[in-house]
Amino acid sequence: MNILVTGGTGYIGSHTCVELLNSGHSVIIADNLSNSRIEVISRIKQITGRQIFFYQVDVTDEEAVNSIFSSNRIDGVIHFAGYKSVTESVIKPLEYYFNNIVSTMVLIKLCLNYKVNKFVFSSSATVYGENKVPFVEDMELLPPKNPYGHTKVINEKILTDVAKANPDFSVAILRYFNPIGAHESGLIGESPIGIPNNLMPYITQVAKGKLDKLKIYGNDYPTIDGTGVRDYIHVVDLAKGHVAALEKLKKGVNIYNLGTGKGTSVLQLVHAFEEANHIKIPYEFVARRPGDIAECYADVSRAKRELGWSAERDIIQMCKDAWRFEKNNS
Ligand code: NAD
Ligand code: UDP
Repeated sequence: MNILVTGGTGYIGSHTCVELLNSGHSVIIADNLSNSRIEVISRIKQITGRQIFFYQVDVTDEEAVNSIFSSNRIDGVIHFAGYKSVTESVIKPLEYYFNNIVSTMVLIKLCLNYKVNKFVFSSSATVYGENKVPFVEDMELLPPKNPYGHTKVINEKILTDVAKANPDFSVAILRYFNPIGAHESGLIGESPIGIPNNLMPYITQVAKGKLDKLKIYGNDYPTIDGTGVRDYIHVVDLAKGHVAALEKLKKGVNIYNLGTGKGTSVLQLVHAFEEANHIKIPYEFVARRPGDIAECYADVSRAKRELGWSAERDIIQMCKDAWRFEKNNS
């Protein structure tokens, strides 16, 4: 298939392009480089030995995206492009609603116009809110605590309504848990701009000596050791989940959790990183971060049953690969 990948030079998008190419598909990337670098294109080519097409466009710009549809045969779209910082979304809600929702509407409209019937959307475990773990796809969603989360809920709703009205339009909504790690080549990975918000990039920057010590947000949660529990998934496993979702896509709306099904606490992740890479990570406990929940992990049985996909890489592998990328690239 010829797949249009929006946000394809970003963290998850770049790994997904590699897995698509490795599975024999062709890739057209549309990205405005607002949170990624052009070098990623040559790195994807280097890893796969395959050619790719790149358009530097803003996906909210209908005319620009229309010209991609009119000059390429497209069989499906994977839509990663969007803003993703929870904290920033509270400060700049309008930018978040505009970018994350208009981009989806533009793409759906063009898909319908050009009869492109396969659409895969990047959603997030944040849509479950503070539900009881493990999170199951059929659960009633609880209101997210920030504009970023709302953009995911709204996009899910738009896609569901459009699919209902257009029976040929097939949608996969993929709810990611916590992607970490990097491609084993060390050539692509996560490079946040400024001080990282997320745990793993913070740990790797402490390991590198760029940051003094990790601040652990809260040690009084009702969890195994008092620190927050998340379902960390290797980004390459997550990328492979997209290929499975695309290849096995059924008519209508198909929602899948992409996680490992296992919860890991902040302290357990810190200790795994130390064991995997033989580097001590200094840390201190500080107050809970507003908006955080105690535990978040997936029920992954639907993806296994319907897509034949499950995550294979363990926490130690995630820590080794994250550190290799950090060492090589910054
Ligand atoms: P990322 O920032 O690394 O990648 C997003 C890419 O989209 C970037 O390359 C950016 O330049 C591009 N982009 C943003 N707005 C654009 C626009 N209007 N037009 C064209 N390009 C645009 O983020 P990521 O971690 O790879 O996340 C990809 C998707 O997955 C996002 O939708 C995000 O909300 C979702 N998601 C991410 C996580 C996570 O922990 N990383 C978790 C759940 C969901
Ligand atoms: N966390 C932390 N220190 C940090 C960043 C994160 O203790 O510098 C904790 C956070 O409270 C949560 C877990 O690590 O329990 C994962 O946070 P992250 O921001 O990576 O992901 P999300 O909040 O989206 O699950």
